Amino acid sequence: MSAHPIRYLPPGSTLGVLGGGQLGRMFAHAAQAMGYFTAVLDADVESPAGRVSHHHIQTGYEDPDGLARLAALSDAVTTEFENVPAVSLAALAGQCPVAPAARAVAVAQDRAQEKAHFVRCGVPCAPYAVIETAEQLAAVPADLLPGILKTARLGYDGKGQVRVKTAAELAAAWGSVGQVPCVLEKMLPLQLECSVIVARGADGATVHLPVQRNLHRDGILAVTEVHEENLPPALASQAVSAAISIAQGLDYVGVLCVEFFVLQDGSLVVNEIAPRPHNSGHYSQNACDVSQFELQVRTMAGLPLTQPRQHSAAVMLNLLGDLWFARGETAQTPPWAEVLALPGTHLHLYGKTLAKHGRKMGHLNITAPTAPQARATALQAAAILGIAPF
Ligand code: ATP
Ligand code: MG
Repeated sequence: MSAHPIRYLPPGSTLGVLGGGQLGRMFAHAAQAMGYFTAVLDADVESPAGRVSHHHIQTGYEDPDGLARLAALSDAVTTEFENVPAVSLAALAGQCPVAPAARAVAVAQDRAQEKAHFVRCGVPCAPYAVIETAEQLAAVPADLLPGILKTARLGYDGKGQVRVKTAAELAAAWGSVGQVPCVLEKMLPLQLECSVIVARGADGATVHLPVQRNLHRDGILAVTEVHEENLPPALASQAVSAAISIAQGLDYVGVLCVEFFVLQDGSLVVNEIAPRPHNSGHYSQNACDVSQFELQVRTMAGLPLTQPRQHSAAVMLNLLGDLWFARGETAQTPPWAEVLALPGTHLHLYGKTLAKHGRKMGHLNITAPTAPQARATALQAAAILGIAPF
């Protein structure tokens, strides 16, 4: 039991967030809409969340003085970035309520621990081997190949991953990542990818968003669709149950995203978890009566959780920096006015000044009464922006 459990914090309290990226920015917006003050810790003067927060502490995530200032300002603290050192969260927890707990974040930070947790919860994941030593490398079973070598820590958007076909390629790949601890996962025949956002309160109450269907391109989420025609209902409810048992198994408090693969034979396999709101849950800002960011505020502020209701079919398009270069080598602002002339389009930009290839600059949520309408509008928007059809 934590020395500072989550308790009811009325609007007017200050909610702190470790990390200043876009997820922190959208958290700050949701908290402020409900009358909370916000504090962000991020060294970057121009961080997306720092720019919109009442307080911005500009230090590194491990700076003891910065952490002490965050704790002093905040009535509760959360994180928006899973690579935030779990020790920093543990230090904060000595001074104020922290959700999710450092222990749960530590599991999500380490692919080996994460997979061990899936096994404990009885949720199938890809066959894998942990590789930390040359002996473990040599002992990898042949049937894990072809596979994907993933660094155990610090991977995101497909970074820290190498696809390997043979034992020789595997050995070379482990060398290329600096022989850091890794997991080798068997390459699975994917039919599709989906994810579930779960919110769990300090009292153990759990709610979830509808299951999202995700399309990745080059290891980065490109498109999320959420509507009834997305997935067979039995599969969707299986994903929700698995996500809830993973959250319960961690005694998790906060918003958790669980990513899944659906294999060609129709079976469901868990991929990974993110201990925070997730890119695939952004559609909830415009298509649900409670967004994933409001759920994060509610879990931190000890507010009741009610089951979110999706009121519109939704498609989310990620807006990567590449779109700024769709018409040439010098960066040009995409034609937002043309896109916003389409009904049901909602533009979210993260306030990043510099567009770079692969950098998440914003997203576009498209809502409509029916799935075919949402898809049709999303395809029109994609054509205007230079996003390949899906
Ligand atoms: P992010 O944190 O951005 O979600 P990540 O870098 O943590 O991504 P993963 O989710 O592990 O990476 O993998 C990225 C993508 O690579 C997956 O969404 C999937 O498309 C593909 N992939 C990963 N593991 C496997 C696997 N075992 N078999 C087949 N495809 C896989
Ligand atoms: Mg992933």
